[in-house]
Amino acid sequence: MAQRVPVSDGSSKKTSRVRVAVRLRPYMAKAEDKDEGPCVRGLDSQNLEIINWRNATETVKYHFDVFHGEKTTQQEVFLSSVKPILPHILVGQNASVFAYGPTGAGKTHTMLGSSEQPGVIPRAVREVFKLVQSKREQDEWDFSIGMSYLEIYNEKVLDLLSPNSQDLPIREDKDKNILIPGLTYTTVTSFADFDKHFVPATLNRTTASTKLNHRSSRSHAILLIKVVRTQRAQPQRQQTGKLYLVDLAGSEDNRRTGNQGIRLKESGAINLSLFTLSKVVDSLNSGTSGRVPYRDSKLTRLLQDSLGGSAHSVMITNIAPEYTYYFDTFSALNFAAKSKLIVNKPFTRETVSTGNVQAKRTRDDQEACSAGPE
Ligand code: ADP
Ligand code: MG
Repeated sequence: MAQRVPVSDGSSKKTSRVRVAVRLRPYMAKAEDKDEGPCVRGLDSQNLEIINWRNATETVKYHFDVFHGEKTTQQEVFLSSVKPILPHILVGQNASVFAYGPTGAGKTHTMLGSSEQPGVIPRAVREVFKLVQSKREQDEWDFSIGMSYLEIYNEKVLDLLSPNSQDLPIREDKDKNILIPGLTYTTVTSFADFDKHFVPATLNRTTASTKLNHRSSRSHAILLIKVVRTQRAQPQRQQTGKLYLVDLAGSEDNRRTGNQGIRLKESGAINLSLFTLSKVVDSLNSGTSGRVPYRDSKLTRLLQDSLGGSAHSVMITNIAPEYTYYFDTFSALNFAAKSKLIVNKPFTRETVSTGNVQAKRTRDDQEACSAGPE
């Protein structure tokens, strides 16, 4: 049999930075809440601002690769943040997409969505099948697509396609590929075939989580889509591209445990993986040559070959506009931001009298809305 050698295609640039998008979900005040209006708003397709709690006459402005306003559709999020990285996994490169943010801010909506508004996962899987189909017709390669689906809960790696499995080990082969021996890997031939495995596993996870006290907000759900292509002619070169689609644990855990390592340990590694992910992303994005602490948690160890290096990574930070989320939003933005700026311009509300109707408006509201992403 032909020897399998790792392919290094000289054209692939080192793109170790993690692209950061922020998505603000629509305001959803409950009837019993008093209507305080939002505490955060978009400014344009890359900038947003949040009221400064230290001084309410100021706002803190943040700059991101992309800002998705509350009117952004699932399709727009997919097209701008996810679709562009998918072709890479057909040529043996790795990619990852994460949804980060506090519980209730829209991570599952972004990744999974609903049947009316499908999210990143169904759209990405459909697109991968479409890309492979078009390549099959023209290329001299054979393609095979497969999936694994797992959860990291309390630093345990659990197979969602084989619900009774125990904590699985994470290993690295001689070519520095990360693998999990024993993890179910299923070849899928169509989107419907994928769905047949994915949907029941997702339902199982949700049911288990209601019994286990908010488990789903404390665990990371990780879907792996692998594309293996094999040259039809000798020497039958083979390339494997991996795409990780990750619905992360709620980032409020991170804030509650603060930044101190000791308190993080005391809280029983509530989310060591999330905490380490923030250090890894920080280290990659700051471009310093220091050690990237991949090995400090299960999540980052697992993603080591798909985050940083020549991998293509996107983090979608989900935030909510209500005041009840204020500190969680603030900490999520601080984690995600490359830069911030305090602006001495009050986020004032003015009361506009239109006949008998008192309409509460945020100054510049129109501007903020119309400046949302295309
Ligand atoms: P998380 O997974 O971060 O805890 P969810 O995705 O479950 O949050 O979102 C919380 C609620 O908000 C859900 O009812 C969800 O349908 C709704 N939601 C989140 N984002 C949006 C959005 N962009 N548009 C409409 N509804 C949204
Ligand atoms: Mg969720």
